[in-house]
Amino acid sequence: MSTADPIQITSLIDDAKCFELIRQYRWADGVCCTGCSSKLIVRNGHDDTQPCRQRYLCKDCGVRFDDLTDTVFAGHHQPLRMWVLCLYLMGLNLSNSQIAQELGLNQSDVQMMTSQLREGLTVKAPEIKLSGIVEADEVYVVAGHKGNPEAVKKKAGRGGVEDSRARVGVVPLKKKSRRS
Ligand SMILES: [Zn+2]
Repeated sequence: MSTADPIQITSLIDDAKCFELIRQYRWADGVCCTGCSSKLIVRNGHDDTQPCRQRYLCKDCGVRFDDLTDTVFAGHHQPLRMWVLCLYLMGLNLSNSQIAQELGLNQSDVQMMTSQLREGLTVKAPEIKLSGIVEADEVYVVAGHKGNPEAVKKKAGRGGVEDSRARVGVVPLKKKSRRS
């Protein structure tokens, strides 16, 4: 008998379960449009690369979204189970380097993941007290007038200097604000 391989935690958990978990928490009150909050939602197939990731279509506004839209898990190359395990290990107070070792990731990836997870998930995660909201206040984008001072002068004549500043409101990921 040869000695057993060390247990790899990542092999004990599959993406299907993780997506199930996310859906359970995120859509506890039914699937809700990420654009208009409508509940008139139909399923719309699955993600091309992640077959467990359900897609949805809003019958009210036509927006397409999926289980991970507007969460920190979206748009990253790490599979969802890595994030879920990362959260779990964070809950056990493991350091970034310990988490990296457990998950077989490099430390800079884990650093990025833990800092994003600490900022908020949008969706509530079980067992770990890290629920939160990613939120940003208004962002001011100063329109460039470099080399064209005349444009600024003209604008200032009409509507004041404020016109050269575009006000961009960053929409909070969740309608509810915690700051009140
Ligand atoms: Zn909608």
